[in-house]
Amino acid sequence: MGSLVISIDAELGWGFHDLADPPESRVESGRRGWRRLLALLDRFDVPATWAVVSHLMLDRCDGRHADHPAPPGWFERERGAWADRPDLRFAPDLVAGILAADPDHELAAHSFSHVLFGDPETTPEIAREEYERSREIAARWGLVVDSFVYPRNDVGHLDVLADCGFRAYRGRSPTPEGIRGVADAAIRDRSSLVHPRIDEFGLVSIPASLFAFGFEGRLRSIAESVWTDPIVARARRGIDRAATDDGVFHLWLHPNNLRATRDDDRMAAILEYAAEVRAESALEIETMGEVADRVGPSRTGDRNEATTRAERVI
Ligand SMILES: [Zn+2]
Ligand SMILES: [Zn+2]
Repeated sequence: MGSLVISIDAELGWGFHDLADPPESRVESGRRGWRRLLALLDRFDVPATWAVVSHLMLDRCDGRHADHPAPPGWFERERGAWADRPDLRFAPDLVAGILAADPDHELAAHSFSHVLFGDPETTPEIAREEYERSREIAARWGLVVDSFVYPRNDVGHLDVLADCGFRAYRGRSPTPEGIRGVADAAIRDRSSLVHPRIDEFGLVSIPASLFAFGFEGRLRSIAESVWTDPIVARARRGIDRAATDDGVFHLWLHPNNLRATRDDDRMAAILEYAAEVRAESALEIETMGEVADRVGPSRTGDRNEATTRAERVI
């Protein structure tokens, strides 16, 4: 039997701070979407993996981060255009909401400042700083984060991720994201279940199955209700498959994708269906951390063995 995993890239302004022209409606929807998503998960008693940009867990900062090895200018927007927008840069209130929620959510990391780990300019030193800060800030909250979601799914510096004590990450989707993945019948009908595996660094890779908001624009506007919403249909098929077959249906999204009621309705339809299937079948709804517990090496002995194996391969 399989499971459903939902991972959430929670970032507020940090998801866009490096863009020349941040998409205003997404930027301004982050807090709204965060609260709606938390409420929906609560309503259907569904636990999720919340991968939070850990700068959001700070109360304040100097806007400079002079001791961070990122290139000059990386933190420019927070001390420039967003200097008077602490609501985009800090969110201890929203993080506390995750921790206080009834479902047993996992708090995971989405880096410290949304660095792109596959970018050639991101050195191992920068990667390490981003990973370590996530662990340190969580520790100040009395928490351990050991699942990681890469900004823009740009996977990189996995050796350093393992070295910093993480156990699991969201791997790239085996199928194309976005419009093609939904519109192309050959891809649409392929099973969207993924199979977590232990990689050469002893980390558990849990690939993404489906981006819940990969279907937007013109075709989205044709789909007027959840009854005709192709993402809801695809999510239902994935949940059905996970109820009968081995594998994980791994859905992911950002809080800022919930910009309007119809977005809330899409997530409500998916979560309601997941809760129904869970009640009637062997379907489990797990966090990434629970998947890592199930399929990964243990935290001590096996992990070292896997790391040693990886070192030998290198
Ligand atoms: Zn800062
Ligand atoms: Zn992100």
